Amino acid sequence: MVADNAADSTKETNKKMDVLSSTRTVVKTALEKLGYPDEVFELLKDPIRMMTVRIPVRMDDGSIKVFTGYRAQHNDAVGPTKGGVRFHPDVTETEVKALSIWMSLKAGIVDLPYGGGKGGIICDPREMSFRELEGLSRGYVRAISQIVGPTKDIPAPDVFTNSQIMAWMMDEYSRIDEFNNPGFITGKPIVLGGSHGRESATAKGVTICINEAAKKKGIDVKGARIVVQGFGNAGSFLAKFLHDAGAKVVGISDAYGALHDPEGLDIDYLLDRRDSFGTVTKLFNNTLSNQELLELDCDILVPAAVENQITEKNADKIKASIVVEAANGPTTMEATRILSERGVLLVPDVLASAGGVTVSYFEWVQNNQGYYWTEEEIDTKLHEIMIKSFNSIYNTAENRRVDMRLAAYMIGVRKMAEASRFRGWV
Ligand code: GLU
Repeated sequence: MVADNAADSTKETNKKMDVLSSTRTVVKTALEKLGYPDEVFELLKDPIRMMTVRIPVRMDDGSIKVFTGYRAQHNDAVGPTKGGVRFHPDVTETEVKALSIWMSLKAGIVDLPYGGGKGGIICDPREMSFRELEGLSRGYVRAISQIVGPTKDIPAPDVFTNSQIMAWMMDEYSRIDEFNNPGFITGKPIVLGGSHGRESATAKGVTICINEAAKKKGIDVKGARIVVQGFGNAGSFLAKFLHDAGAKVVGISDAYGALHDPEGLDIDYLLDRRDSFGTVTKLFNNTLSNQELLELDCDILVPAAVENQITEKNADKIKASIVVEAANGPTTMEATRILSERGVLLVPDVLASAGGVTVSYFEWVQNNQGYYWTEEEIDTKLHEIMIKSFNSIYNTAENRRVDMRLAAYMIGVRKMAEASRFRGWV
């Protein structure tokens, strides 16, 4: 029997279209502010390359299921493209395109020699066995093998993918390429050439941004009341770092609900009970909805889950004075305007979540030179880069009188635009 889960156009929700069109709008404004002609926007508004693949996988019950996957390469003027692969039932082509543009912006902000890329497969890994996931991961690499590689496009983990999946993908690529090729992918297990600090890098970068933003607002992180939406890779490490730094994590959530304690939650206990997909709230009776969580009384709010969480419907009700976006695209354009008018300091995703790709870059550099760094070295380098990036965006926002998101886009897009012009593309 052959099953088919291909995305039909009805699944392309309006929400995901919004994410791409609002990203384009901000990119356009950033390029105009920087004085670039319209043809630069015409080039950058879409990925230069977009591949759709069909991946047949033999399932445990003997049937063949055919999955749909994507790989988007936004712009490779600066260097090879780079970005994660997402395994999720709601993946769409439009979303993968937007995510690849955000990766370009992140690389520009932290000044890496990369352009942005992104991949996604429509699937639900929560309902698949280890063996089925291995088949899907290897099938995806076989399908995209011609357009990826250590000097072309370097994948990494994203939502619901992890170091085991990176290991299978690296192994499959090494077989195709006929030699051991760790620089093909980042986020690998340490024994296969992974980097110290990669797993917690996104959360560490977010923590650094929280500290810098708190300084600007005169808030002491020690004792501050913080809400973290999402308990996946970014959210769980982040809750732990903040808790250890003496902050009160008063709310957390997963896809099924949220927990709240005004005195601070027992983060170590929750981490202990969480499953590998970040689910923990199912164990409790007294849960809130994710929407209620966002509106809780707190000093700092960190959306670390999925897109479109803070919208024009709830932006007025957000009580935090600092919002730090650990997820990609959690705040809509309209909500960004409302928060900025209300004086909320919003640290945008393309800056706040850039710690992950920064340590991925360190991993790739270590693979290329075959010489490995200590966790302390990684930490010091990451701190330096994040603090510098935060301050240059903060100062640009002040000097050019624009919000932090537009300032981040201006800095993020500049190198790529310049490189495309030097190459004579536009
Ligand atoms: N998926 C992560 C992101 O969205 C990391 C990408 C990478 O390490 O290349 O930033």
